[in-house]
Amino acid sequence: MGNRYTTVILDRDGVINFDSPDYILAPEQWIPVPGALEAIAHLHRSGIKVALASNQSAVGRGMITRDQFAAIRATMEQAIATAGGALAAQAYCFHAPDDGCDCRKPKPGLINQIMQTLHTPRQQCIMIGDSPRDIEAATRAGIDAALVISGHHAREPLIASVHQIDADIPVFANLEAAIAALFPAA
Ligand SMILES: [Mg+2]
Repeated sequence: MGNRYTTVILDRDGVINFDSPDYILAPEQWIPVPGALEAIAHLHRSGIKVALASNQSAVGRGMITRDQFAAIRATMEQAIATAGGALAAQAYCFHAPDDGCDCRKPKPGLINQIMQTLHTPRQQCIMIGDSPRDIEAATRAGIDAALVISGHHAREPLIASVHQIDADIPVFANLEAAIAALFPAA
C-alpha cells in the first residue's frame, strides 16, 4: 500500500502536537505527540515529502495575532528540525468558520494548494488527520486518507463519523503507528 505515496499531508493539532479544545494559543502549549517528530524525520530521510494542511481559526477569531501564530509555527519548525525532519510545504487557513473561504477544511483548498506547490499527483498523496473534516477534505481533493486517534475527539464517535465518510479509512493510534504501517519499507 505504502510506497506509492511520495507526499504525506499532515494536519497539525492532534497529529503532530497534542490538541486542546481551547486552541493552541502560545508556543509553550505546542507539545509534540510522542513519536510524531521521529516519524516526520523518518519520512524526510526516506525521501518522502511531508506537508502540513491546518485550520488555524484562532487567528481569524481574533484569539491570537499573526505574530503569535508565527511564534508557535517557529517552535514547531525548530522541534521538527531538531529531530532531523523538515516540512516541504505548509498551508494554513486562518479564516473563521463564517468567513465563507474556500480553504477551511473540510473544503479541499489547502490540500489542493499543497499538491500544486509540490507538483504531486493526487494518487501519490495521503492525508493523515485526527478529525472527520481532515478526512472529508482529503476525499473532496481526491486523495487517500488515514485517521489517527491522538487528538481530543472521543474515540468511538470519531471513528464512526469517519467511517461514514469512507468505510475503508484506516485508523491508527497516532502518527508513529500510521507511518510504520503505511510505509513499512521506507
Ligand atoms: Mg486536528
